[in-house]
Amino acid sequence: MGNDDVTASGTQAPASVAPASGPEAGATAAVVDTAQRAADAALAEASAEAEFEGLAPAPRAEIGVIGGSGFYSFLDDVTEVPVTTPYGAPSDSLFLGEVAGRRVAFLPRHGRGHHLPPHRINYRANLWALRAAGVRQVLGPCAVGGLRPEYGPGTLLVPDQLVDRTKARVQTYFDGEPLPDGTVPNVVHTSFADPYCPDGRKAALAAAHGRDWAAVDGGTLIVVEGPRFSTRAESRFHAAMGGSVVGMTGHPEAVLARELGLCYTSLTLVTDLDAGAETGEGVSHTEVLRVFGENVDRLRGVLFDAIGALPENGSRSCLCTQAHDGWDLGIELP
Ligand SMILES: [Zn+2]
Repeated sequence: MGNDDVTASGTQAPASVAPASGPEAGATAAVVDTAQRAADAALAEASAEAEFEGLAPAPRAEIGVIGGSGFYSFLDDVTEVPVTTPYGAPSDSLFLGEVAGRRVAFLPRHGRGHHLPPHRINYRANLWALRAAGVRQVLGPCAVGGLRPEYGPGTLLVPDQLVDRTKARVQTYFDGEPLPDGTVPNVVHTSFADPYCPDGRKAALAAAHGRDWAAVDGGTLIVVEGPRFSTRAESRFHAAMGGSVVGMTGHPEAVLARELGLCYTSLTLVTDLDAGAETGEGVSHTEVLRVFGENVDRLRGVLFDAIGALPENGSRSCLCTQAHDGWDLGIELP
């Protein structure tokens, strides 16, 4: 299984500002004609800067949440900021608000109205946009299928490992493709042995504990290409290889965050038992939506508590910030 961050509230973000324009999102961004992309991006960069002007105080946001609109639509004061990147347009505008005294940028992973399937999300643009807005720590809630019978619907698992089983996603900024400004990324091999931020995980687990949600501390998130659910054989294979839960969006989000020196923490909500672990008809999208809807309020509470518990950006002591020590990136990060 593993659809994702469903808009459970049904609340739509205001459409007063047009979504940012840019090249086609997703893996196709890599093959867009370079000259055209340069022209688009130059325009987009100018408009993005214009959009950021007037937002005070800088930085505009310190923490990012990539999830559904159910996570920010109830905040009192949310500012929509269209933005684009050298990699094209992100899934949607950033929605800036304040939670627990922290400036947070919310990004609907599948776009408003949930129109982007997992394999068409422009992950590079999403993480780049967040960093450009000032974000240095990212929380990535997502819906997953349980690969073990004990991880039934409603389980919250904060993984400490992942296995990438995606097939056709661009998962690096350092691919030798020139940026619109002419700079070319160098070849960089990023450390990824521990894909998640230890401090972010700690904050998420403590937040869940504080709300009497016995979250599972650690486990392996398998990320599949989708958008289809797994066969029973695939599901059993994923369980046999040590997987705890399976989803469609946790990667390349995690590695792109690491490449940008961002702290990234995944919070996985089990909406169903995956095909190999259940005995019925198999995963249905309706069931996924129902379980997610039942738990989205709880999950929002955990996220907001976790946001308040994250360290200040300037005092991070985790290794996420040192991912590129000793490397010449060849490009300036935003
Ligand atoms: Zn970190």
